Amino acid sequence: MKKNNFAIFAFICALLCFNTVPAQIHIEGNVEINMNSGLFSCNFNLANIPKLSDYSILLNKGMNVKYFKDSENELINYEGYYNGKIKGEAIAYTFKNDSTSTIPSKFNVTYRGAFPVYSNDFNKFDYKGMIAINNQTLRASEQTKWYPVIYDAANDRILNSYTYDLTITIKGGNTIFVNGNAPKKGETSRFVSRKAHPLLLFAGTYSFIESNGDYILNTDVSKETSEKVFNNTANIKSILSKNLGLEFTDKIYLINHKAINKRREGSSWGFNTYPTFAFTGLNFDKLLDDNGNFLNDYYRYFGHEFGHNYFGNNVMSGKLSWFWLESFAEYLSYNVAEDLCGKEFLKQVLLKQIKNIENDSFIPLNKIENRDEIDEKYRYILAPLMLKCFEDRFGRNKMNLTLKSLLEFAKSETLTLMHWKESAIKNGIKEEAFEKFEKEFVENPEFKQNIIDEIRKKHG
Ligand SMILES: [Zn+2]
Repeated sequence: MKKNNFAIFAFICALLCFNTVPAQIHIEGNVEINMNSGLFSCNFNLANIPKLSDYSILLNKGMNVKYFKDSENELINYEGYYNGKIKGEAIAYTFKNDSTSTIPSKFNVTYRGAFPVYSNDFNKFDYKGMIAINNQTLRASEQTKWYPVIYDAANDRILNSYTYDLTITIKGGNTIFVNGNAPKKGETSRFVSRKAHPLLLFAGTYSFIESNGDYILNTDVSKETSEKVFNNTANIKSILSKNLGLEFTDKIYLINHKAINKRREGSSWGFNTYPTFAFTGLNFDKLLDDNGNFLNDYYRYFGHEFGHNYFGNNVMSGKLSWFWLESFAEYLSYNVAEDLCGKEFLKQVLLKQIKNIENDSFIPLNKIENRDEIDEKYRYILAPLMLKCFEDRFGRNKMNLTLKSLLEFAKSETLTLMHWKESAIKNGIKEEAFEKFEKEFVENPEFKQNIIDEIRKKHG
């Protein structure tokens, strides 16, 4: 036993030395937007950029770079202007620098861009990656790369969640919202966040309502309906926070945005940039039942999304990052479903999930070599069911304590399976019992079938 403890100790030390959480990018600067002409003028300083040698800086293709400068205010030479490579919505820029091939930890970029304003006309399509301006609002999600987004090519990873300090001026509008901050009235406002968020921008002429730090933006909604919605979001938050014994700190934002394409009457299109949920034609009656509760599926949907208050950016590193990020949030949604919709609903969900993976094959978690081997079915279905088996075996209480310990580890380290074991043991699960679980449901070549059998046995 002692020997084992020492081994774990040595392992943790090694993790602390070599496995620290990557740098968190910070963005500062000024943005000026003219709602009437669709003109953007931006001046940003990025700092604390992780050392990457294979990278590019992505900027929406409608933006024209004035210059890049280094931390000494000297111009930086860059590639991408001539014959630039397009990546998604953006042009990819890289610095030409002979002395070092890695991206500097800080740089400045100044640019302008203009986008069409749709007043009484439409584009053929709209999606999250478009900078959408109509005669009332402007919507620019992180996917548009309206701000410089770093692409880590070696890991095929987009870094777009930043801490920020932004001063935004809007001409022709009266309200500005940046994801992670309360919307503000006025022509110029400053937004600061020490928690990293993908920068969804929603500005224009609109009003908003607030309750306990949750917001509904740009929708005519009765006081009665908004109270119902806020009650539901508060319920989900309180379940998650009670279970984990950790405060729910994120504020939730529900946005009614307008698509720039013509949409079928009554249809709604939604996307989320956590903790913001944006819908076109937002009709809360579609979310609520006759008693004013969210429909069960929405409890589960929001249960997952709100789970990212805990398992969010903080756990998004390492080869198992999709597991820590999505599978844990999805697992938390099972608890929300059970606590707010009842055991019978949860049972239906679990059995339906099994059907979705019955014919697929998966690599055991300990054999995962790169992050994308944890594909969508793996991260949203199989691995959450694995975590459910863990809960079924050791109980909700020990599960919650284990999750809490993992979050503690994630503050300074990239999570690994070793942390899971360590957290479990710390919270009263016997080492042999954990290893038995691991053999059956995590490392076994037949782990998928074992998980399915176990869920059927307990819930079928
Ligand atoms: Zn998620």
